[in-house]
Amino acid sequence: MNDFYCDQVIPGKIQVEIIFETENVMAFHHTRPYWERHIVIILKTHIDGLSSYQNNPTLNADFFEAIQIVTKMLEDKYGGCRVCSNVGNYQTTKHLHWYIHQGQRLRAENGDPITK
Ligand SMILES: [Zn+2]
Repeated sequence: MNDFYCDQVIPGKIQVEIIFETENVMAFHHTRPYWERHIVIILKTHIDGLSSYQNNPTLNADFFEAIQIVTKMLEDKYGGCRVCSNVGNYQTTKHLHWYIHQGQRLRAENGDPITK
């Protein structure tokens, strides 16, 4: 199965611009952003998605710390942002991740650039 995060990002095969990192999570700028500001937060271990996530206080704490740091950064600079996570057939990559985005949308759902 195609898993960009386990195959490329976590082993460091692709260079990402990291904003925040713990031993469990990593927050970085999306490599092909769909929004002007588009940040991804992933777990460094494989879990398919939120619906199969087993509640884990350590991972919860790291996730929320990362979300808090990134949302504060965007709120301070731009006034606000949105946090979301896709599940099931909404996921193009079946690896639990959060998106935090702000600003104009740059790509449609299928990845095509939005031209004005
Ligand atoms: Zn994975």
